Amino acid sequence: MGVQKCDSVWKKCQEVIRDNIPVSAYTTWFAPIRSVSLENNILTIEVQSDYVREHIEANFLDLLSKVLHRVIGPDARLRYKVRIADTFITENQRPAPRIRNVDIPAPDVASSYEGSPYLIPGIKRLNIDPHLNPQYTMENFIEGECNRLARSAGLRIASTPGRNAFNPLFIYAGPGLGKTHLAQAIGIAVKEHYPEKVVLYVNANTFQNQYMNAACTAKNNNNSNEVSDFLRYYQLVDVLILDDVQEFADKKGTQGAFFHIFNYLHQCGKQLILTSDRPPVELQGLDQRLLSRFKWGLSAELLPPSYETRLAILRAKSQAESVDVPDEVLEYVARNVKTNIRELEGTLFSLIANATFTKKELTLRLAEDLVDKIVCEHKVEISVNRIQNAVCTYFNITTDQFLSKTRKREIVQARQIAMYLSRNLTKTSLSSIGTQLGGKDHATVLHACNTVCDLMDTDRSFRGYVTDIEKQLTSAE
Ligand code: ADP
Ligand code: MG
Repeated sequence: MGVQKCDSVWKKCQEVIRDNIPVSAYTTWFAPIRSVSLENNILTIEVQSDYVREHIEANFLDLLSKVLHRVIGPDARLRYKVRIADTFITENQRPAPRIRNVDIPAPDVASSYEGSPYLIPGIKRLNIDPHLNPQYTMENFIEGECNRLARSAGLRIASTPGRNAFNPLFIYAGPGLGKTHLAQAIGIAVKEHYPEKVVLYVNANTFQNQYMNAACTAKNNNNSNEVSDFLRYYQLVDVLILDDVQEFADKKGTQGAFFHIFNYLHQCGKQLILTSDRPPVELQGLDQRLLSRFKWGLSAELLPPSYETRLAILRAKSQAESVDVPDEVLEYVARNVKTNIRELEGTLFSLIANATFTKKELTLRLAEDLVDKIVCEHKVEISVNRIQNAVCTYFNITTDQFLSKTRKREIVQARQIAMYLSRNLTKTSLSSIGTQLGGKDHATVLHACNTVCDLMDTDRSFRGYVTDIEKQLTSAE
């Protein structure tokens, strides 16, 4: 094999080594090493002295062997050529052997790699990007009655990750109420306390894609290493934040992989933080084994913020933007945008942008115009989940009863009303409505809608129920 090939192979090895040890160690021990040849999978490298060779063997042999197996293949062997400075050899000194073969340990099945995108197992020093947004800090996360429990659990986790009663921490809330912000803030706070801990934030969709890629590659290559690499990569994490776990619904393979990772990390005392748009009991399409684990720690809800908290958030955001917004404008926005903090801050930013671009003053009038538009749009945004909750509250039945298989008349009717309202008030497809409301198919939903229409025509009190609930859902909150 040509010199060029051995150079590029060694370069690749060096890159992987560099990513896995401290920079200073890399610069001292590995950067100066040159490759000499690569023949029959034997890579010969030239080191400056026996001292260097001994040091590398004593400290980095494991790493080196893994790197070589990964880059060259399972039959990789290493040979050193020790450069001897002639001046140091006196006549009666026998020169140290110039060539030394090193039998690097055979790879175990798990560590024979085919260019896996994941890091090498057994090497704890991970250089992975935690995917944390520096803006999402605890300091920026305004405290209120609505988030007190989740926030203080987060603070506890930050000081004692994995060693607390909140493992996993399961944060749930409707859209735009701060799940991602809080989960990220916990990750950032852990890093502040323990810079050496490996923190990883991942959205459930990203996790699902990574898993699918690993599974597909494994299938195409007819070996399961890709999947084991994927699992092992996640097993090296100290604090795993999985955002939007409801996205795992009906994805069995992904759930299986996550189940594996969850168990491993939990057993090792590593911290897990999960977020979801609904509480564990309402997560449909998720394996019972996973659901029961989600309940092991603490489930904390983020509620819509009170007026005072909304105002505090608006104050903080306008300060962060260094814009002086009149109190009456902040108060007006806080009074009128209530259920979604993303919308709350969105309204504020639109106001600021509007005033800046049109060179208008940021007045109450401007706020009224803008908020009208936004609140109006908001009214039509009703989710199936919200409808389900409204129906359950109205008829005073629990979510469990609502989602159960029971054929009890009042429960069946409540489900049918929820289906009917979901069809009329949301843009959700029939089959998705069915899945969300107790795992029914689209024909059942259609049948429910027809039944409700018939009953509304013939039964006045029934019509009263339906219109009451509908009014509650569509009236401004
Ligand atoms: P979710 O993940 O629940 O949909 P996000 O975490 O993305 O919501 O929050 C939406 C926006 O609201 C973000 O810009 C976030 O910074 C802001 N936000 C949410 N809760 C708070 C809070 N308590 N204090 C300050 N900002 C908040
Ligand atoms: Mg989010």
